[in-house]
Amino acid sequence: MKYVYFFGGGKADGTGEMKEALGGKGAGLAEMTRIGLPVPAGFTITTAACDYYLKHGRRYPNGLRREASKNLAHLEKLTGKELGSASDPLLVSVRSGSARSMPGMMETILNLGLNDASVEGLAKATKNERFAYDAYRRFVQMYSSVVVGLPKGDLEARLRKLKSDLGVKDDTQVTAQGWRQLVGEYKSYFKSKTGKDFPEDPVEQLWGAIGAVFESWMGEKAVTYRRVEKITGLLGTAVNVVQMVYGNRGEDSGTGVCFTRDPSTGEKTFFGDFLLNAQGEDVVAGIRTPMNLRELKERMPQVYKQLERVREQLEKHYRDMQDMEFTVEGGKLYMLQTRTGKRSPAAAFRIAVDMANEGLIKVEEALERISPEDIERLFYPVLDPKLPRQDLSSRKLGEGINAVPGAAVGRAVFTAEEAEHRAAKGERVILVRRETSPEDVGGMYVAQGILTATGGKTSHAAVVARGWGKCCIVGAEKIDIDADAKKMSVNGHVVSEGEWITLDGGDGSVYLGEIALVAPEPPKAFETLMSWADKVRKIGVRTNADTPQDARLARKMGAQGIGLCRTEHMFFKDFEHPEKSGERQLAIQEMILAETAEARRKALDKLLPFQRRDFAGIFEAMDGLPVTIRLIDPPLHEFVPHEPAKQAELAKKIGISAEVVARRVEQLHEANPMLGHRGCRLAITYPEILEMQVRAIIEAAIDCQKRGIKVLPEIMHPLVLDKRELRILETSTRRVAGEIIAHSKVKLEYLVGTMIELPRAALLADQIAEVAEFFSFGTNDLTQTTMGLSRDDAGRFLPVYVDQAKAAIFTDDPFQTLDVEGVGMLVEWAIARGRKARPKLKIGICGEHGGDAKSVKYCHRVGMNYVSASPFRVPIARLAAAQAAIEEKQNAKAKRRNGS
Ligand code: PEP
Ligand code: MG
Repeated sequence: MKYVYFFGGGKADGTGEMKEALGGKGAGLAEMTRIGLPVPAGFTITTAACDYYLKHGRRYPNGLRREASKNLAHLEKLTGKELGSASDPLLVSVRSGSARSMPGMMETILNLGLNDASVEGLAKATKNERFAYDAYRRFVQMYSSVVVGLPKGDLEARLRKLKSDLGVKDDTQVTAQGWRQLVGEYKSYFKSKTGKDFPEDPVEQLWGAIGAVFESWMGEKAVTYRRVEKITGLLGTAVNVVQMVYGNRGEDSGTGVCFTRDPSTGEKTFFGDFLLNAQGEDVVAGIRTPMNLRELKERMPQVYKQLERVREQLEKHYRDMQDMEFTVEGGKLYMLQTRTGKRSPAAAFRIAVDMANEGLIKVEEALERISPEDIERLFYPVLDPKLPRQDLSSRKLGEGINAVPGAAVGRAVFTAEEAEHRAAKGERVILVRRETSPEDVGGMYVAQGILTATGGKTSHAAVVARGWGKCCIVGAEKIDIDADAKKMSVNGHVVSEGEWITLDGGDGSVYLGEIALVAPEPPKAFETLMSWADKVRKIGVRTNADTPQDARLARKMGAQGIGLCRTEHMFFKDFEHPEKSGERQLAIQEMILAETAEARRKALDKLLPFQRRDFAGIFEAMDGLPVTIRLIDPPLHEFVPHEPAKQAELAKKIGISAEVVARRVEQLHEANPMLGHRGCRLAITYPEILEMQVRAIIEAAIDCQKRGIKVLPEIMHPLVLDKRELRILETSTRRVAGEIIAHSKVKLEYLVGTMIELPRAALLADQIAEVAEFFSFGTNDLTQTTMGLSRDDAGRFLPVYVDQAKAAIFTDDPFQTLDVEGVGMLVEWAIARGRKARPKLKIGICGEHGGDAKSVKYCHRVGMNYVSASPFRVPIARLAAAQAAIEEKQNAKAKRRNGS
């Protein structure tokens, strides 16, 4: 097995394709050498060697030493310099390099090869003793801490003491003599701590450094980073041993970092920083203010011209924006690294679109380069990135599960009522609850953000907040909320009602105080790219929207209809006239508390006009597009108060006794409400609810149609488990609708269909499809019921299940990304059976998975007609659908090529 790959003198053993073996840096150096760019020579030890080293008790694989020494000899020959030589010695850097970028997570050793003899050689060759001893002390310092593990603080204290003894402030003021003295001090400290002399033999130094870089793959920082970034399946780090070039050799030297395009805006301008007379770490440390590339152009026009050419060449070669590191030594340019540049979401769109327009990449490639996160991050306000990190961490209160990204600032409130009360006065609030229920919807709506102590990513709070694109953190279990005392405590801090807090839904952090936010503006390129996505994709994209406002927003986001309108959300909030919300709340509560069908009907009559108006608003917003309206779904106890004081208040309003209210609420109690009297079971037992809702839908549709609005209603029954059940519902639906339509004398087409949310419904899909004109997979419930996991509480243990360093049972949260292996089996079964019974059966998905890119791709593959996502996730679904179509095309092509 070949463990070492050489590059230099215009030739390289490796290529840019070999990232897995050579790491990003090694592959980049090899490729840049191949295409004739000025790269210092060196060699890369592969990730397989690291893997072996870590798995075999820190032993190097057989033959590695021999291979490395052959490559070292080659390097010495090519450069005409020798490691450790007392005249003009070869010095090398030893750097890590992983296949996936892990910035700053692993180790580097610079100036390796210096010892008491070669430092003199370096001083002579450069005619700069100060420079040589500065390099030497940097090396001894780095080696001692990185390779041997001596405390950095002890070494830095010696440097500080030296400067104070010399009476100087900056490193640049220390003389050669000063640095020589420091080297001596470092070495005696080294001996006192290790009992050994500092290694003078450069080959020993080299192997020490290689081992330390391998070791840093398993360092705590690196392990944590891989876990957080979900980086798995890599062998380890490569090691790059490269001839040192110096940016700190005088005013004709320097070092810089540049991007081939602006990484924040995506604009096609050359962008970067350059530090004169400095080494790479000085740029990273940010001690001195660098100059921009325009100034470099003035100071070193030749170098700048060359760099411009490199920029063009690299972009053409890699066909993507590059992030490059370079050094100028004595007026000569060296490229030290190139990699695909990280960019802001706005820049990602602009670069993809511009590059496609320039003909550098194909439209399909432009679409593949955008990630769902790019889209999400484009729309949500975020914490001002200019805020100093330290300032933020000192304000951090705690954290929860980042259910909806973006950020929000407001005063903490602990009840929905208080939220509404304060919001009505124009205050910004954050609603903090143990958990939320439909009763809280009003308060949630007016809040800037929502924080709950329990729940997972598909808990009520998360689903509702996502629908509005509202920042939401759930499952912050360490937060102790005392709603009665109007305060919460977390990690020793107490936050009382009215105090400012800030939520960062991006990472789930909760901060004390009012932190500045910035709202990103979607760039023009966003529209262009999304229009390309629409041309490519095959599967439709609808939205989950419950109000005319959401419907309008979703349409702007590109939705082609509504896939789920949850009617119960309208029971609690009048979104057009919030001040009138009380009337409908009272009507629904009256309906629930009614003890006879007649009393229920009376209450329902009051709700009818509200629902009719809401539906009309939604139809108007969706003029010409299909609208799926789902009849009432949640268990009724969610709509009535449980606290005695509130029950008494309600009793008074309705004109019944508090005891009756308490008794009815008690009767509604269920041990497992999610498996109880909910979904279509409500309409089966209280047909008058169905009648009212169907009436409201059909009357609104007729009214709209008369006004020239094109309506395509689809009436959907939730939680169906049987054909007989659906037949009863369908018959009632058609009876009520038929009567109204006949009476109105207009021609109105509508569909009656069902959600598939229970395993039994999926298994018996052929029977159900005899009645249903469409299926919509409610994968929130289907996941819950298939897996036996509570969507509201699984947040307590699911993190352990998905943590690859812990239980690693799932790769993704099944409530977020569809469990293709298990739940998917039911989905595919139901599609096949359903279509067998009814070939034209329309099939969609309206669970949260409809807005998850991976799941959308799955829905495309299994042949659904559409997915439905909350308005802010509609663009994600459009893009994922396009990517799915592209992947399918590529796979078919590959299959043809392989002749299978
Ligand atoms: C579902 O269960 O997937 C669904 C869309 O319905 P809800 O989330 O309202 O239960
Ligand atoms: Mg459901």
